[in-house]
Amino acid sequence: MSALPKGSLRNVGQVADTETEQLNAAKGSMREEIIAALFDPLDDFCEHVCEGADKATKAYINGVRRTGIWPLKKQNTKSNKVIMDSDGIIDWKCEIPESACSTCQRRLDDRHIVKLQKAISNYWQGLCLDCMDISSRDLDTEYWNHNEPGEWDKGCTLYHQRNTWYFSFMGRPSIMETHQREQRERKRAREVCESEVADIERGLFKKRRFA
Ligand SMILES: [Zn+2]
Ligand SMILES: [Zn+2]
Repeated sequence: MSALPKGSLRNVGQVADTETEQLNAAKGSMREEIIAALFDPLDDFCEHVCEGADKATKAYINGVRRTGIWPLKKQNTKSNKVIMDSDGIIDWKCEIPESACSTCQRRLDDRHIVKLQKAISNYWQGLCLDCMDISSRDLDTEYWNHNEPGEWDKGCTLYHQRNTWYFSFMGRPSIMETHQREQRERKRAREVCESEVADIERGLFKKRRFA
């Protein structure tokens, strides 16, 4: 019997599991965006004081109800698509109370929903087979080379953005965590360096000015 090729059955199984996990992670991440867009404005309503604030808050809650996202405990039975295609999102409507001030009126209109629709429709382009392939190999440096704005689909068959690159990662989660930690550290070091350069430049400017 011939030996199994390099990508053994166990590895194929691992990739399939990772694929499901990444698909679920992408769906969960999209759901977080939807929840934030619908519920975060309530915080602003609570802090806002005006004659019509209470009625405006109630009107907003009725607007959210029309999306069908409640009851929250049954949320998992609904797909993101069902929520995004609901009447409440497609045709966001809040009855604007007469006493609502201009701030309340603005918060009741659909601009945050339009922003959400745009964000979700551009959220990701599905899993990229090319990124999945290169990130499932042992030597996956090619995958990391895509982690620059405008480079996420470099050499890939289909156009895609960052989230597709991110969720198409089929390697071990610890590798991604290490990469992200190093990226954060590099960013912090860059910021410290930039602020030191700015301080030096400010110092030189002062010196020149008062020389
Ligand atoms: Zn108001
Ligand atoms: Zn790709």
